[in-house]
Amino acid sequence: MGIGNGAGIDEKKIAKLVLHAHPSLLRWAPPCKHNFTPAQFEALKAVCDTIVPSLPPPFKDGEAFELMRGVTAEDVARFYEANASDEGVAEVVAASLEVLVRPVVLKTMLQVLSLLSTGWGTALLAVVGRVNILTFKYPVFRKFSRLPLRDQEKVLRGWSTSPLPQFRLLFKAFKSVGGWAFYSKVNEYGYNVSWKAIGYPGVAPEVRNRTEADYKQPRPLGDAHVDAKEAGAGLKSILASKGFVVEEVESFRSQSEKLGFSKNDNDVYLQCDAVVVGSGSGGGVMAAALAKQGFKVVVLEKGQYFAAQDMSTLEGPTLLNMFEKMGAMATDDGGVALIAGKSVGGGTTINWSVSLKTPQNVRDEWANEHGLDMFNSERYDKATQAVCDRISVQPNVDKHSIQNIILREGCKKLGYHHGTLSRNCASDHYCGWCTYGCPTGKKQSTAQTWLVDAVNTGNALILSNCTADYVFHGANPGGVKGSKAQGVAATIVGGPNRVYIKANATVVSCGALMTPVLLLKSGLKNPNIGKYLRLHPASTCYGYFPEGTGPEGRPYEGGIMTEYAPVNFRKPTEYGGLLETGVFHPGAFSAFHAWGSGADNKERLLRHGRTSHITVVVRDKGFGTVEIDKGRNPKISYKMSKYDQETTVAGMVQSLRVLVAAGAVEVGSQQLGAERFNAKGASPSDIEAYLNRVERRGASETTAQIISAHQLGSCRMGTSPSTSAADPRGEIWEVEGLFVGDGSVLPTAPGVNPMVTIQSVAFCTAEHIVQYLNKFKI
Ligand SMILES: Cc1cc2nc3c(=O)[nH]c(=O)nc-3n(C[C@H](O)[C@H](O)[C@H](O)COP(=O)(O)OP(=O)(O)OC[C@H]3O[C@@H](n4cnc5c(N)ncnc54)[C@H](O)[C@@H]3O)c2cc1C
Repeated sequence: MGIGNGAGIDEKKIAKLVLHAHPSLLRWAPPCKHNFTPAQFEALKAVCDTIVPSLPPPFKDGEAFELMRGVTAEDVARFYEANASDEGVAEVVAASLEVLVRPVVLKTMLQVLSLLSTGWGTALLAVVGRVNILTFKYPVFRKFSRLPLRDQEKVLRGWSTSPLPQFRLLFKAFKSVGGWAFYSKVNEYGYNVSWKAIGYPGVAPEVRNRTEADYKQPRPLGDAHVDAKEAGAGLKSILASKGFVVEEVESFRSQSEKLGFSKNDNDVYLQCDAVVVGSGSGGGVMAAALAKQGFKVVVLEKGQYFAAQDMSTLEGPTLLNMFEKMGAMATDDGGVALIAGKSVGGGTTINWSVSLKTPQNVRDEWANEHGLDMFNSERYDKATQAVCDRISVQPNVDKHSIQNIILREGCKKLGYHHGTLSRNCASDHYCGWCTYGCPTGKKQSTAQTWLVDAVNTGNALILSNCTADYVFHGANPGGVKGSKAQGVAATIVGGPNRVYIKANATVVSCGALMTPVLLLKSGLKNPNIGKYLRLHPASTCYGYFPEGTGPEGRPYEGGIMTEYAPVNFRKPTEYGGLLETGVFHPGAFSAFHAWGSGADNKERLLRHGRTSHITVVVRDKGFGTVEIDKGRNPKISYKMSKYDQETTVAGMVQSLRVLVAAGAVEVGSQQLGAERFNAKGASPSDIEAYLNRVERRGASETTAQIISAHQLGSCRMGTSPSTSAADPRGEIWEVEGLFVGDGSVLPTAPGVNPMVTIQSVAFCTAEHIVQYLNKFKI
C-alpha cells in the first residue's frame, strides 16, 4: 500500500474536509520513494508496526471505558485497528530518513535493518537490549518481522534502555519518526485516522470558519514578495519590472564554473545594496532597518510565504512546509531534536510569542567576560525598546490556558516562584495553534511587522523558495580584511536555475544551524564558525487530568506559553533553567512522549486532550558544533554537559512536583524507558521514591527525549578572531561586508526565550551596516 487511506476511515460516512488555506498547507506530501532493499524495508515496516500496531479495542463489549467527551467506542476501535504500515508510514519513514540523516549515519541504520531481516541478527540485536526472544520451538531464530508483537515490543523496549547509547538513539529515531509520520499524516479526506478517537479537531477553529473571501484578502507583503519557484521562466521579467535585474556578472560566472554550478537558461542576475539571506527574527529586522535608510534590499528565503489567511494549522502539511527538515531534524547522532522555522518569517512564524528582554546578568556577562560593551550600553536598551514596540510586546493575558493554569496553581501550592510571560500579541490572543502558523495574524511575527516595514519603503524585495548556496568573496585591495563580500548565489527550489545577487553588503541570517553551513560552504576558514552552538536543551514532563478534574480545556487551546517558573536548583544568577509549558499536537506528542509498547502509545494518545505539559528549558553551559562533511552535508553535534544534565533533571523533578500538586492523576517524563506514575492517592513516600527513580534515570541526549527550539551562538561575536567568528559589529572577521544577523552571533545562551535578544542584536548590527553602506554612496 502507498500512502494509504487506512483502516480508520469509513468512506461512506466521512465528508472531505474543505478548508480555505494555501494548497501546500492542505496536502500531506512527504517523501515516500526510497532506496532500501526489500529485506531492509520489510524490517523497517515491522519496526513501524511495532511502534504503532493494529490492536483489538482496549475494552470488551459492554465494558465501561473512560472516553474523552464526544468520542465513541467505535471511534476508538477504528483507531486501535489502524497500524503504521496500512497508513503508508513505513515508506515515509524510509524516504524521510534518507533526507534527514547523513549518508554515513543512514548506512549504520541500514546495517541494523539488514540484521533485523535475519533470524540470527534479530537474536543478536535483542541481546543488545538484554532481551531473550529465543524459543524452544522451531524456528529458534526468527527475523524481526516474524516475531510475535510481544517480542517485537520487548526488543524495542530493550533498545530504549540498552547499555549501548547507540541503540537508545536508534530507538529514539525510529520511535520519533514513526510516531511523527503516523499521527501528523493527513489523508486524502483531510483527516488523520486517530483524530476522532482522541477528540482532536485537526485544525484551529478560525481555520474551519474561514471563508473563501477571507482567504482571498491581500497578503501583507503584496507584490514585493515573489515566489521564485512559482514565477518559473517569468522570474526574470517580474524582477526586471522592479528594477533589480542586471546582465550576467562575469566574475560570478567564472567563480560558479569553478564551483560546478551549471549555467542555465533561466538564471537571473540581480543587483542591490544589501542581500539578506533568511527572513526570520534577525533577517526581518535587518531588511527593515536597511530599507528604511533608503538602501535597496533583497531578502532571500528558502521557504515559502504564508500569510495568516494561508495557514491551515494542519500538523503534517505544516511541519513539511514551515519547518526545517519537515520538523524532524536532529543532531547527527539523533540525540537532540532540532525544531526551527523555514518559511518567510522563519522561527517567528511558528514560535510561541514569548518576548523577554535579555536578562541583566546575561548582559553583564557578555559585556564583562566577552568584552562586548554594547550589551551594557544605552544603545542596546534603545534597540530592545524599538524591537518590543515594533512587535507589540505586552505583559497581559486575559485568560490563561489549562496548561498555564496548572503550572501556576501547582507552583502556588508549593510556594515556588512563578510569573507571567510577556508576549508579542494582544492580551486576548487565545490560540494554541500558532506553532503551526498564526491563523489570525495576531501574533506579531516578522512577516507581519519588520518585513512589512521593509516592503512599505518601496526598497525591499522578498524572494521566497530560493536557497542561498554560496557567498562570493574575493580580493579587497586597500581594505583592512583580506577579502570582501560580493553577493550570493542561490538555487531556486526544485532547481536547476539560480539567482545571482551582487551586493555591497551581504547579511547571513539563516539561523544558528544554517548560517555556519552557508559560511563553511563558501570556503570561510575561521575555526570559530560553527563552534559554540547553544541549544537551550529542553525536556518535558506531563500530567494527566481526566475529564472533570483540573481546569477546563484542551492543551492545544489558549496561549501556548503565558506562565513560567525558574528552576529552583540553581541560583537566579547561575546558568539555570526555566519551566514553561509547551504544546504537543498528536504527531509531536507521539514523537516525544515515552513509549512502552504499542498499546501504551495508543492509550497515551487517547489521553492527549487531557494531558498537560511542563517543559524545562536549560541555559546551557555546554555547547555543540555545526560542521560540513566531505559531501558538504551539515553535521550538527551536541552532547549535554554534566552541569546541564543536572539542571535538566532537577527541572524535571520540579515539574513533576508541580503537576502532582496541581492534581494530576498520572505523571511521567520523556526519559527513555520512563514509567507512568500513578499519582492519584500516592503517598508522599511513593512520590519521593518515584522522583528518585526519575533522578537516577538522568536527563542527557542519550537517556531522554531532548528538544531544542532555540539554536544560538554558532558564529558568536567577540573581540578576537581567535575566540569568535564575528567582530562586535557583527561583521565576519575574515570578510569585509559580510555580516551575521541572527541567533548565531549571541556570545552564549541567553537563558530566556531568545527572539527579542536576537532582534535587538540585529537592530544594533544593522546600524553598523548602514554606516558601512554609506561608504558606497557617491
Ligand atoms: C516551536 C518554536 C517555538 C518558539 N517559541 C519561542 C518563543 O515563544 N519566544 C522566543 O523568544 N523564541 C521562540 N522560539 C525561538 C525563536 O523563534 C528563534 O530563536 C528565532 O526565530 C531564531 O531567529 P534567527 O534569525 O536566528 O533564525 P530564524 O528565525 O530561524 O530564521 C532563519 C531563516 O533562514 C532561512 N534559511 C536558512 N538557510 C537558508 C538559505 N541557505 N537560504 C535562504 N534561506 C535560508 C530559514 O528558512 C529561516 O526562515 C521558538 C522556536 C520554535 C521552533
